[in-house]
Amino acid sequence: MIKLDYEELLERLYSRLPSKRVEVPIEIPPLEVEFISTHTKVKNFKHVCEVINRDPRIVLRYLLKSMGAKGSLDSDGNAVIHQNISRTSLNKLFEKFLELYVRCPTCGSYQTELRKGGKVWVLKCLACGAEATVKPAW
Ligand SMILES: [Zn+2]
Repeated sequence: MIKLDYEELLERLYSRLPSKRVEVPIEIPPLEVEFISTHTKVKNFKHVCEVINRDPRIVLRYLLKSMGAKGSLDSDGNAVIHQNISRTSLNKLFEKFLELYVRCPTCGSYQTELRKGGKVWVLKCLACGAEATVKPAW
């Protein structure tokens, strides 16, 4: 048995760590829905929008436009859609939004920001620094 002192152990440990910090992928929870008669409420909408760093109004407008429905944000900042839509269908639309307006086309990271630059919208990646112009559909 080889005996190592504390210092040596530490050194071994650090030498195994990658020099560049490994990016922790963000976890985007699926949208949770609740049906209230003819309406659909997205219960975790505010939270999910915070996770993806997007204005809830933009996300909602995109979803509503995609399904041809009306809706609004309630006092808690959660989405109320004036139509019944299943959790699966809603999440499919939401995934499309993520693909178009959140995911970096260069490195695939979801740590990005979306801002308006003049007449165009720019998707800027916080992981690799790439910028891409996107066409708004909301
Ligand atoms: Zn990137």
